[in-house]
Amino acid sequence: MRKPVSPIAIELLTKELAYEAKEQRESIVLRLHSAFLHLTEALQPFREQWQGSGAAAYQAAAECGWNPPPAKWLHAKRSVFDAGLWSGVSDTMRQAALPGDETQSTEADEWVWWKERLGALPAITGFKLLPGGLPGAPHDFTHGAFGGGATFAARLQEHRAAIFGLPAMIAIGDGQGIDDFLERVLPAIRPKLAREASASYNRQLIGELLAEHDSMLTWLAYMEMVFEAVPPALYAHIAGSGGVTLMLELRLMLPLALLCARPAIDHAIHAFAESLQCFVEDDEDPAPLDAAVQEFARLLIDFARAAKEVHELEELLAEARTEELKFPFLPHSELRTRKTAIRQDKSCRCCGSLEHRGHGVRMGTVAYE
Ligand SMILES: [Zn+2]
Repeated sequence: MRKPVSPIAIELLTKELAYEAKEQRESIVLRLHSAFLHLTEALQPFREQWQGSGAAAYQAAAECGWNPPPAKWLHAKRSVFDAGLWSGVSDTMRQAALPGDETQSTEADEWVWWKERLGALPAITGFKLLPGGLPGAPHDFTHGAFGGGATFAARLQEHRAAIFGLPAMIAIGDGQGIDDFLERVLPAIRPKLAREASASYNRQLIGELLAEHDSMLTWLAYMEMVFEAVPPALYAHIAGSGGVTLMLELRLMLPLALLCARPAIDHAIHAFAESLQCFVEDDEDPAPLDAAVQEFARLLIDFARAAKEVHELEELLAEARTEELKFPFLPHSELRTRKTAIRQDKSCRCCGSLEHRGHGVRMGTVAYE
């Protein structure tokens, strides 16, 4: 360990660590922002469908998406759009926005699905009930994608208010609330997942990151922006009748990846993203809807990587604390104001130019030591 002995050495070390922390913060933003822009571009066909009629677009996506054969749910339950649930989700998102933010934007990266009308399902959907577009579908996400089955799916719905509240608790650094979620709510949703999460939850690391606040807030702001940008029909396209379950699973798993430093959650997200990618990999020129799913899968992997980078940042901050350096911590901000600031900032995250948004390149994996 470096032991600065003179004021000059202390100053040098402070500068070095501050520089490394700044680089790490920028790397996190760059990764998340580039993933977000790639996704919003690819979501164009889903946006167009959703703008026409949300409910009908959802039903069409469920019927014509990746149903495993023989799509039994089509016979058992013809309508899968749960208007009550999705309007509840939409209300939750509206409440988390800045007051008065009701006008829909035509910009792809500002568009949010909850500002569109949900629409209503016609009594007869009018879609041909086909057993899925792809006869060789290797998966069945009827009860979600993370292997929890019907009970898990039901419990996700039951506890959805708590799931939706978790990012806000992390954003305000509510350690007690997070503990309560991990010790009481998560075991009620799925005991196995709760055991994995508590085994990989590093209380000290997370506590210090909550105090640092900034990088976690940025990560969560991008996560919320993703859930606002992805029209619900995307989940129905992937999981058919399990669309709602998939959305709730991801809303649970992503913040857990931020909270859990050991790789159990990270592995589960990677496995899911890779299964999505395998599914469209054979197709060199994927259909636009599949291309959107492909981009969504890449984004999930980028979010998992960025969560790791947030944890690495903590190592730099811990070193600064150990050496008792006067270290530049960033001022606190709120989740929704951070989200708005990100949306309003149209500069290129690589070079600051206002002429373009990014360099079209996805971030690789650079390990900061
Ligand atoms: Zn640039």
